[in-house]
Amino acid sequence: MLNYKNHSEKISLIKERKLSLRENVTFFLNRIKGNINFNAFNFVFEDCIESVDLIEKKIMNGSAGKSAGMVIAVKDVLAIKDRPLTCSSKILKDFNSLYTATAIQKLIDEDAIVIGKTNCDEFAMGSSNENSAFGAVKNPVDLSRVPGGSSGGSAVAVAANLCDVALGSDTGGSIRQPAAFCGIYGLKPTYGRVSRYGLTAFASSFDTIGPLAKNIDNIALVLSVISGFDPKDSTSQNIDLPEFNSFQTVNKKFKIGLPKEYFAEGLNEEIKNTILEKVDQLKKAGHEIINIELPHTEYSIATYYILTTAEASSNLARFDGARYGYRSKESNTLKNMYFNSRTEGFGPEVKRRIMLGTYVLSAGYYDAYYRKAQKARRLLKQDFDKAFEKVDLILTPTTPTTAFKLGEKSSDPLEMYLEDIYTTSANLAGIPGISIPIGKDKHGLPIGMQLMANQFDEQKLLDAGKILMS
Ligand code: GLN
Repeated sequence: MLNYKNHSEKISLIKERKLSLRENVTFFLNRIKGNINFNAFNFVFEDCIESVDLIEKKIMNGSAGKSAGMVIAVKDVLAIKDRPLTCSSKILKDFNSLYTATAIQKLIDEDAIVIGKTNCDEFAMGSSNENSAFGAVKNPVDLSRVPGGSSGGSAVAVAANLCDVALGSDTGGSIRQPAAFCGIYGLKPTYGRVSRYGLTAFASSFDTIGPLAKNIDNIALVLSVISGFDPKDSTSQNIDLPEFNSFQTVNKKFKIGLPKEYFAEGLNEEIKNTILEKVDQLKKAGHEIINIELPHTEYSIATYYILTTAEASSNLARFDGARYGYRSKESNTLKNMYFNSRTEGFGPEVKRRIMLGTYVLSAGYYDAYYRKAQKARRLLKQDFDKAFEKVDLILTPTTPTTAFKLGEKSSDPLEMYLEDIYTTSANLAGIPGISIPIGKDKHGLPIGMQLMANQFDEQKLLDAGKILMS
């Protein structure tokens, strides 16, 4: 039932009547039901089967859209009209969205089929998918381990064949890190490439939407559908859109930078060795490997956690019990209602971030933390600007470890934050990054390699990903 290697092959099989879209969607729906122990989905849209006949007809008569019949799961931080939108939080319990996110609307307009909403860390805050009001998500490779986060459900849905492609969001690594832990591809686009309209805001100057898939072709296809200017997101960029799915890999040779700061202490030896083997292969294939420096890297985690918590404390102020979802029943005054709704509705990690963010923005601390972090962000960005004068791509590990055990880091927030050591810098700089599966460790756990490119240079990530696949 899944004997196709990418979307264009799926379309060919449908056209040749070797694959029925109805059977294909039924297959996915049954697999989701058969694998509820992964806990990958918050909501499954069984009624999506109703659209298959029309879409199949369009495929047959040549009038179908670019992503016709592609079965897509979306992270439950993205809005779909009249469907639940919970952000895996109790505070949005029973909330239904009033409109559809632009990225999802574009996929629907191109005849994709949305099969459900995936589990994630509450408000996308976390690196293990353990911070969810719907419970933790399990890694299909080893059920005692985390799938990564915060887009853990999206990564599992793809890795376990519960859909063709998933959408996730990435504020500091939430697409790339779970993709690495689950052995699939995950791409974080340039900030401004994909409209954020309909993405529940965590840290608005960092948030991005991107695809997770089992192959680079599907990543490219979904990216080309969801990209583009949107008047509903003032930070989306009005620039020409390349056809991401036309790969230009023939005889393409890249200059690839290896930043020494990303291969220092703390990196698991097996990950390091597997990556260095890939680097060797690339060198032998004629790509130029250049040692580079990104000297402000050591400040990335601190800068990220100051700025994103500051933005989150402001963004999450709207969840007050009055306007959305959950309202405490215990309250006799308005102030109590706000207080109790937020106390009961938010989980511990979200509360920690709101408090941290409020602190770094407060009078007396603003200059020492928030303003300083803004300056550090600029320096981190300048490191990348300088590096991209010399190289096309920057190659690093995606994560310092492979998938860790459930519960292993959940009592130590700092340990958990350090999981993001290689991913937050791309969000701080607004540049695109991709995680590519390149092997397994001795326990059979997937290893991911990250490539970063300059702003709006996603095509280079895709071309390099294609080269690495072959
Ligand atoms: N793990 C990071 C955090 O907890 C990244 C989250 C994300 O990208 N949404 O903030």
